[in-house]
Amino acid sequence: MNYTRFINARSASRKHSAIRLMAELLLKAPKSAISLETGAPNPNTFPFKSAVITTENGETIQFNEDLMKKALQYSQSAGLPELLIWLKQLQIKLHDPPTLHYPPSQGQMDICVTCGSQDGLCKVFEMIINPGDNILLNEPVYPGTIHALRPLGCNILTVASDEHGIIPDSLKEILAKWKPEDAKNPEKNTPKFLYTIPNGNNPAGTSLTTDRKKEIYELARKYDFLIIEDDPYYFLQFNKPWAPTFLSMDIDGRVIRADSFSKVLSPGLRIGFLTGPKPLIERIVLHTEVSTMHPSTFSQLLVSQLLHQWGEDGFRAQTERVTKVYRKQMDALLAAADKWLSGLAEWHVPTAGMFLWVKIKGMNDVRKLIEEKAMKKEIFVLPGYHFYFDSSAPCPYFRASFSLASPEQMDMGFQRLAQLIRESL
Ligand code: PMP
Repeated sequence: MNYTRFINARSASRKHSAIRLMAELLLKAPKSAISLETGAPNPNTFPFKSAVITTENGETIQFNEDLMKKALQYSQSAGLPELLIWLKQLQIKLHDPPTLHYPPSQGQMDICVTCGSQDGLCKVFEMIINPGDNILLNEPVYPGTIHALRPLGCNILTVASDEHGIIPDSLKEILAKWKPEDAKNPEKNTPKFLYTIPNGNNPAGTSLTTDRKKEIYELARKYDFLIIEDDPYYFLQFNKPWAPTFLSMDIDGRVIRADSFSKVLSPGLRIGFLTGPKPLIERIVLHTEVSTMHPSTFSQLLVSQLLHQWGEDGFRAQTERVTKVYRKQMDALLAAADKWLSGLAEWHVPTAGMFLWVKIKGMNDVRKLIEEKAMKKEIFVLPGYHFYFDSSAPCPYFRASFSLASPEQMDMGFQRLAQLIRESL
């Protein structure tokens, strides 16, 4: 792979700060080393001394004085080494990336920790995009992506999708205006990447099938674009076996995968991680050096202690426990939808995640119904226009989340909504 066309001038000009490099060297230096160079504050001045954090199953994570000093200090921009080691093993186990042993310049798999996956994705977009670049994605799409992409001035090519995610024929049709060799000519402006949420798409609740992923990956090879696999709902899949990920198919080193602990550990920790080819992950780490400097050391250490204590089995048990909760919640929302919205609306059963995407029948646009009438009746759902780049276009969909409400609230909420729909038709 030649990565030059995926690194814009701004990203290419990023350089390691010599001071950061020295600070990172110092972190690895023996205790006997004398440092008079660091700008790190003296941990003896920090107000927190120690902590014991109790987990849901009654186990404890101890932060003694030494660990607390480490948790409150600056740390490496790519992420804490002990956490990175654990994450690397996890990725190998789950995805067995073909690029694991490639030479670094040819796309060897690399990982960095980010402040949630949003931070990683935003930096990926900023690394690649120049104004006017073509990029591919399927709508409806997560609004965080819309708001990260819009200011970059790229040209969005919308790929059609259905209940199984992106339709490869639609992608083929869009790409047919180029020849494969056009990717070598910047003037041809061939798409630089395809962004997709392969599992439990937020908002549509859909997942891409294995066959479609394979076909899409082959198209990425043919037209030389990257695949950005934004997969925060990977661990919240309701059906087994799980489809293989794009990362697991990545023989070229053209996939950047964004993972998140927000849904399976907690979002306030702000811990996500990017897995992808080293030449690109390096650029992201350089960006981190000058933006957040690194994700919170305390959060990373807490997660690292937890994961090392749990081991992979413990982590899997946690993801299964969480998935069970959301499955039960989903069943309750589906029961409420069946009871009150049958005949008035249509939806697909979500395959992962925490959202139901509902289309109201016979209504061109639901904005007024939801933003004026439903809110007055104290039922809050998100009108579908939030999930499209052209938010002014009429949209008959809304997104209902099943993460927080009780079954009784879901039932009452859809009962109120059904009444409003009937009155509005
Ligand atoms: N991508 C998608 C599809 C999401 O739904 C979200 C969160 N709602 C994110 C990314 C960002 O998650 P994080 O908390 O890891 O930044």
